[in-house]
Amino acid sequence: MTSIEHNLQEVRQRISAAAEHCGRNPQEITLIAVSKTKPVSAIEEAIAAGQTAFGENYVQEGVEKIQALARYSQIEWHFIGPLQSNKSRQVAEHFAWCHTVDRLRIALRLSEQRPVHLPPLNVLIQINISDEKSKSGIMLDALSELANAIATLPNLRLRGLMAIPAPESDYSRQCAVYQKMADALAELKHQYPDVDTLSLGMSDDMTAAIAAGSTMVRIGTAIFGARNTTTYTQQ
Ligand SMILES: *Cc1c(COP(=O)(O)O)cnc(C)c1O
Repeated sequence: MTSIEHNLQEVRQRISAAAEHCGRNPQEITLIAVSKTKPVSAIEEAIAAGQTAFGENYVQEGVEKIQALARYSQIEWHFIGPLQSNKSRQVAEHFAWCHTVDRLRIALRLSEQRPVHLPPLNVLIQINISDEKSKSGIMLDALSELANAIATLPNLRLRGLMAIPAPESDYSRQCAVYQKMADALAELKHQYPDVDTLSLGMSDDMTAAIAAGSTMVRIGTAIFGARNTTTYTQQ
């Protein structure tokens, strides 16, 4: 067994344990393997171990990998990094999901640029749940306006919400923050029948996120090992 295969098994076990702990079905939770900065060969190892959903943060790097791995048609690519308008076309053309929509301008571009032969791009609205001025995402009080606008766009499918909460060592305070995301998702679900996704939880906060109802956890280091570079070089 390769170490990536081994790590994937361990992460899947942790997801199952966290789900069972709060009475949820582990099948409801999708593991996104975050492969940023990691080479194509590492992704292929994960594919061989049965992993199908991958997350990338940088547009150019992500597109290079998608093209290099195009023969694996079962892979679902998730864009999870900050998105600038001048890069939206590449996301619209190559990814199945975008987790980081935080303004109407980006949503309009993604819808316009989504190729007609592809199904609608699945989008999540990124929420700035820990109220930090420097991070991306919108405040919860701006959610309904942006959701209303996105729901009318023909080539996007609004699927739910995403957040990257600030690190919090106290479990009960962490859960209180995550509950706000769960409540916002429940409200959104009432209005939009396609909404079914909460992208919340990374290596350190997976348990609290799953307890709050997360349906997608994004895990990088625990699968692929530490990132010793911040950029990717094609090989
Ligand atoms: C890098 C990243 C992850 C994965 O982080 P790890 O600490 O490597 O598990 C998850 N979500 C987002 C948005 C990221 O940028």
